[in-house]
Amino acid sequence: MGEELIGRLIERLGEGSVRTGADIPPNNCVDASHLTPVTPRAVVFPRTTEEVSAVLALCHAADQPVVTQGGMTGLAAGAHPGEGEVALSLEKMRGVEEVDPVAGTLTALAGTPLAEVQAAAEEAGFLCGIDLGARGTATIGGNVATNAGGNQVVRYGMTRRNVLGLEAVQADGTILTSLNKMMKNNTGYDWTQLFIGSEGTLGVVTRVVIGLHPKPAAVETALLAAPDANAALAVLARLQARFGGELLTFEAMWSEFIAVAVTRIKLPEPFAERHDVTLLVELGTTDKERMTDVLGELMEEGLVADAFLAQSGQDAARMWAYRESVYEYGQFQGNQINLDISLPRGQIGQAVEDLRQLGASAWPAAVQVIFGHVADSNLHVVIGPLDGGAGYVTPADKKTVDAGVYEVVRRHKGSVSAEHGIGRLKRAYLGYSRSPAELALMRTLKTALDPKGILNPGRVLEEA
Ligand SMILES: Cc1cc2nc3c(=O)[nH]c(=O)nc-3n(C[C@H](O)[C@H](O)[C@H](O)COP(=O)(O)OP(=O)(O)OC[C@H]3O[C@@H](n4cnc5c(N)ncnc54)[C@H](O)[C@@H]3O)c2cc1C
Repeated sequence: MGEELIGRLIERLGEGSVRTGADIPPNNCVDASHLTPVTPRAVVFPRTTEEVSAVLALCHAADQPVVTQGGMTGLAAGAHPGEGEVALSLEKMRGVEEVDPVAGTLTALAGTPLAEVQAAAEEAGFLCGIDLGARGTATIGGNVATNAGGNQVVRYGMTRRNVLGLEAVQADGTILTSLNKMMKNNTGYDWTQLFIGSEGTLGVVTRVVIGLHPKPAAVETALLAAPDANAALAVLARLQARFGGELLTFEAMWSEFIAVAVTRIKLPEPFAERHDVTLLVELGTTDKERMTDVLGELMEEGLVADAFLAQSGQDAARMWAYRESVYEYGQFQGNQINLDISLPRGQIGQAVEDLRQLGASAWPAAVQVIFGHVADSNLHVVIGPLDGGAGYVTPADKKTVDAGVYEVVRRHKGSVSAEHGIGRLKRAYLGYSRSPAELALMRTLKTALDPKGILNPGRVLEEA
C-alpha cells in the first residue's frame, strides 16, 4: 500500500517533488523543538493548491497520516514528523502574489517566509503587523497555523487579528477559498478563524490575505530598569494610558536573564547597577519630548530606577541585542527547554517568584531565565540541562520541568501556551488550561473536518 501510494504521488507531482529514504533532506526530519530526528515515509513538495489537494485526496483514500511542514521553526513539535507519516512541505509554495494598496492587503502563498512578507509590505509603504524572532525562516502559513504572536502584539494583535482571508485544503482534498479583503464580512460561520491556530490539524493553509497597517512615522526605543515586577506593570499601565496605540513593544527581562547576557553572551552590563527587571520599550511616536517627560515622572515615582533612550538606530540595535541574546544560548549549552506560558497580568510578579523558588529547589544547577512579552501576559522560561552542563536536555529533564512549571501556571489560572501552540509537547497539559467541555468541542470539530484523523495526528489532541 505504501509503495503504491508513493507511486501515485510521483505520478501526480513528478519525481522531483517526492523524496524518500536517504534522499529526504535532514531539515524535514526535525523542527526547532529538537526532538530526536525522524525520517518520514516521504516528503512531498507541491507547487500549487491543486497539487496540495491531489496529495491530500490520495493520502485520504489510503488512510495515510500527513504532517504539514512550513519553516520548521515551531517549538511545540507540531511539524516534527512521526514514524510512517508523509510530510507535506510548503517550501515550493513561496511568493507574495499581490499588495493591494487601496484595500491595504497583501496576499501570499503559505510557504513564503515572514521576512519576505514584511519586506513586500514595507516596499509598498505599509507595515505587516506580524513579527517574531524566527522571521527569516518561519512561513506565513506556519504563522497562521500557530496563530503566532511576537514582538508587537500589544499594538497589532496576534496573527489572528491580522488575517482577513485564507485558502486552505481539507483532509479529503476539498479546496476552501475565502480570499476576503474586506474588514466586514458577516456571512455565517467564519471557518478561517477556526483554522487559525489549529496547528495543521484541520486543513492545510495554502494562501493568506493579511490586512496591512500604516507605518509609524518614527519609533523611539528605550531600555528601562524597574525595581520589581509590580513596578514594571505600573510602567506598562502608565505608558498605555499616556501613549495608547503608540506603544509598540513592551518586553521584560528578569535579572537572571541579564546575568546570562552579561556573563555568557558577553554583552555589557546595561545599567550601572543590576535591577530586578529590565524593560525594552518601543513607542511609535514623533513626540520625543512627551516620552522624556513621562519617563521623568516614572523615575520620580520610583517606578523606573534608570533609563536610556536610544539616540540612533545603532543604540536601538544594542538594546535589542539583550532580548535577542537568548537565541545564542546554543553557544554554551547544547539545547534547552523553552516554555511559553501566559498568566493574568496581576499574577505575573508572584508567579515569577514561584518559578524562581521552583528552579532553586528542583534544578539548582540549571540555567533558568525568565523574560517575555509582558504586555500580552506572556512569559518565556528557558531552562538548560538540569545538571548545569553543556549537553542536551534529556526527556526526563523535560518531564520534570514541564510538570513543575505547568503546575505553577495552573495555580495562577494561566495558560500552558501563550503563542507556540500545543503540538505534541504540551498535549498532556492541555487540560490544565481548557475544561472537559471545551476539549470535547475540539474533538467534535476535529472529527467533523478530518474524520479519518490523517492530518497531524497526535498534535493538539490525542489520536482518536
Ligand atoms: C528563534 C525563534 C523565535 C521565535 N519567536 C516566536 C515568537 O516571538 N512568537 C511566536 O508565536 N512564535 C515564535 N517562535 C515559534 C515559531 O517561529 C512560530 O510558531 C512560527 O509561527 C512557526 O512557523 P513555521 O513556518 O516555522 O511552522 P512549522 O514549524 O513548520 O509548523 C508549525 C505548526 O504549524 C503547522 N503548519 C505549518 N505550515 C502550515 C500550513 N501551511 N498549513 C497548515 N498547517 C501548517 C505544522 O504542521 C505545525 O503544527 C520562534 C521560534 C524560534 C526558533
